[in-house]
Amino acid sequence: MTDKELRMRQSVDSSRTSTPVELVNVTLPDGRRVDVLLRDGRIASIDEHRPDTGKSAHGEATSIQLDGALLLPALVDGHCHLDKTFFGAPWQPHRAAGSIRQRTVEERALRNEVGVSVAQRATALANRMVSLGTGHIRSHVDIDPVGKLDGLHALFEVRDAFRDRLGIQLVAFPQSGIVTAKGVADLLDAALSEGADLIGGLDPAGFDGDVDGQLDIVFGLADRHGSGIDIHLHDGGEVGTQQLRAIAERTKALGLSGRVAVSHAYALGQIDEHELARTAAALGAAGVAIMTNGPSRSMPPLRALREHGVRVFAGSDNIRDAWWPYGTADMLERATIIGLQAELMSDDDLKYASSLITDSAAEVLGITDYGLHPGCRADLVVIAAGSVPEAVAAHPERLLVVHDGRVVGPVPGVGRARWG
Ligand SMILES: [Zn+2]
Repeated sequence: MTDKELRMRQSVDSSRTSTPVELVNVTLPDGRRVDVLLRDGRIASIDEHRPDTGKSAHGEATSIQLDGALLLPALVDGHCHLDKTFFGAPWQPHRAAGSIRQRTVEERALRNEVGVSVAQRATALANRMVSLGTGHIRSHVDIDPVGKLDGLHALFEVRDAFRDRLGIQLVAFPQSGIVTAKGVADLLDAALSEGADLIGGLDPAGFDGDVDGQLDIVFGLADRHGSGIDIHLHDGGEVGTQQLRAIAERTKALGLSGRVAVSHAYALGQIDEHELARTAAALGAAGVAIMTNGPSRSMPPLRALREHGVRVFAGSDNIRDAWWPYGTADMLERATIIGLQAELMSDDDLKYASSLITDSAAEVLGITDYGLHPGCRADLVVIAAGSVPEAVAAHPERLLVVHDGRVVGPVPGVGRARWG
């Protein structure tokens, strides 16, 4: 570390306390160069950048020079599986499996063999997320007849340990089904009683073979516990779209608009225009959001969904686990992947891709006071780019990560004299 880096480090270290922090010379998404004062976990003020005064306008604040780098609100990963990852463990070669059921059996065996606890692996991944500027995540956690609530309990610990660095929502996820898995409905009920934030679901038709049976339980538990819902739906074609419309109908009936999401919804990328219009209209009217990770096949058509008022948000889904050897946890890279799959090309398109990992995902996760205005929470990331389209296309280095007004990620030589 050079002297300059050491001084920078010391100055930033002091900002890990509750001292106000001033981010000097950052570029907002609209292109303005500004100085941003953070105090008590909030954005206190945003002022036009005052070049070269050499001094903070706010005497008591720790100033961090950022040389015009891009400021965004903290990135949001709307769908991941902290309990499944092999981050923090030795590399695990991917094993073939013929079906989802077979995969769950393989997964259980692999997770036992790996010899690193759920909490340790989840912690390694959560640390990586923080270092990449992710400030809020929604993680599903397996609830099944074998593991019962063990994974959930491990992730409660991780959620607590990361409270000042990363907001973690937990979805009680029935990886082995509900109707066809003995005791799981009761386990899901217990999970919500103990502090899981949302109730999950899994292919009501394809996995349980009983759409109403599974949805009765999922929506019944959500109603009873006042929780949101996030259902994994891989079922394709009209089998899938029928379930999407059934979910929309139940969402409306229970007044859960804005609190229900369907993850993947591959069916939306496999049907004709008429069926798409009908289903998207139902989702939009009911306030059911769709999560995508930018799959190589059956990508939900983002433009059509947007036209019908369907909120789309992004997530990593599997990050180096028994299902999928890939994944880096980088949400800017995820925006790149989605942009490539959806053929997003113009600057406006790339800004839309960015919204999937910021505003839209924050809205779905119900994160209040999210954004870049005075009064918003000081959960922020500074990126080595001059604009939002550049950040999406290049997914460059993160220079500084702030959570609740305190520096929690990348620093050495922060602005690196024009981003090093
Ligand atoms: Zn998933």
